[in-house]
Amino acid sequence: MVLVRLGRLAQLHSRNPDPKDCTMDSQTRDTPAAIPVADAAAPDSVVRRIEVATARFRQGRTRSLEWRRDQLDRLAEFVSKEEHRIQDAVRQDLGRPEFETYLAELWPLLLEIRDARKHLKSWAAPRRVPTPLELQPGSGVVQPEPLGVALIIGPWNLPVNLVLAPLVAAIAAGNCAVLKPSELSPTVSALLAERLPRYLDPECFPVVQGGVAETTVLLKQRFDHIFYTGGAPVGRLVMAAAALHLTPTTLELGGKSPVIVDDSAKLQLAAKRIVWGSFMNAGQLCVAPDYILVSEHKRDALVAELKSAIEEYFGPDPQASPYFGRIINERHFDRLSKLIAEDKVAHGGDTDRSDKYIAPTLLTGVTEDDAVMQEEVFGPVLPIITVRDTDDAIRFVNSREKPLALYVFAEDRQVQDRVIAQTTAGGVTINHTVLHIAHGGMPFGGVGASGMGAYHGKWGFDTFSHLKPVLKKATWIDPPITSAPYSGWKRRALGLFT
Ligand code: NAD
Repeated sequence: MVLVRLGRLAQLHSRNPDPKDCTMDSQTRDTPAAIPVADAAAPDSVVRRIEVATARFRQGRTRSLEWRRDQLDRLAEFVSKEEHRIQDAVRQDLGRPEFETYLAELWPLLLEIRDARKHLKSWAAPRRVPTPLELQPGSGVVQPEPLGVALIIGPWNLPVNLVLAPLVAAIAAGNCAVLKPSELSPTVSALLAERLPRYLDPECFPVVQGGVAETTVLLKQRFDHIFYTGGAPVGRLVMAAAALHLTPTTLELGGKSPVIVDDSAKLQLAAKRIVWGSFMNAGQLCVAPDYILVSEHKRDALVAELKSAIEEYFGPDPQASPYFGRIINERHFDRLSKLIAEDKVAHGGDTDRSDKYIAPTLLTGVTEDDAVMQEEVFGPVLPIITVRDTDDAIRFVNSREKPLALYVFAEDRQVQDRVIAQTTAGGVTINHTVLHIAHGGMPFGGVGASGMGAYHGKWGFDTFSHLKPVLKKATWIDPPITSAPYSGWKRRALGLFT
């Protein structure tokens, strides 16, 4: 099955669209974009590019399914042909191993493209809904239609995927989109601005580079949807700016994602899977396990297994390991270093500012009052808190903001069910970490403080669509039941349908 999927992926990966299929004859991969990359410091140019995208949308350029498929193919082509440049850029920004970039950014992106291409016709088709007796004779459909021009604002931690995966959904749903990658991953941002327009329609999908000033300019403009991924403080600014234009907004935020390790868990397996999710991309993953809740009598055994999993994956010196990444910048390095209370280090704890290296670190004896529990860690530091039992862990989780992800390790099915029923989170993986976000058939998004709205697969298509109800009434009969003169029999007749 896996081989079949990989085979299909390879086909998509290597697909070279027939130039005759392209609607943009003048645009080829190796000629410069029709519209130059915006100078983000010049608001006029940004505004102009939004106007152009709006005009193209209104002219209907993005409407046909063939055009959408072609753009999706071009995006897949961008990923495959530019992979070495992408890998270089990510390595410069994040010092991340190539395999992780493929696993966490490019592979899921290609799967998203494949699914969108495969299901586009059915996702975009009118969705028939049964029409109740009281509205007969008539028939109803829900017709997905594109929203218009979307703004996609991405973060630095998965700087390729978190701009381009929402773009897949925006393209599939027939929108234009302005892309604003993070200035904190400047090499990837520059790469997207320079290379992407050689593949995609540059008028419909302009890339605007920049930081706070440029994003503030963007947010003053009117969009038809804003899709923001990043931290909650900026999420509030985005939502406030969106409110001025009543723009629908998706907020993909973060938060402290707990891991509950029940006494019934297979500790060795749990430890390996927690270490995998916690230290990929040096812990800079929105759904990385943020802290562990475990009972006192299982804690030491779990810590021992976590240590040996860290050694197995990264060797005795993770700084020398080719499989362990670096912190994005000095500011985050300093922030994370302050979260490591020396007297609580059970493993790791080494730091090297000149290399932006922080070792995979386990903290024990942690309480709610410690600095590491006051904010999302977003780095390779994993606090372990002891609780009385899993019910105590549930109380702990419920006393805090709703997390983006929750993980429970338990062999006991009743415990699994109890945790799911009694807690809330953006998403849950049982007996593993992170993987629920890789399931294209499931929505990915937060709840409460961890975000609003969702995407991936059809959920993303729907996020970037207006689901327009269309009721078609017959004209061969016109029952007078709802129109004046209102009378007792009409009231009684309506009551028959309730
Ligand atoms: P960031 O600093 O890169 O900011 C995100 C975007 O907001 C950037 O494009 C940036 O230019 C813009 N921005 C920053 N300050 C702004 C301002 N004052 N006004 C307007 N725009 C501004 O990323 P970050 O916020 O450090 O990202 C880390 C957070 O994102 C973590 O909390 C993490 O959990 C969360 N995250 C969530 C997801 C998800 O899918 N739910 C994915 C990745 C990261």
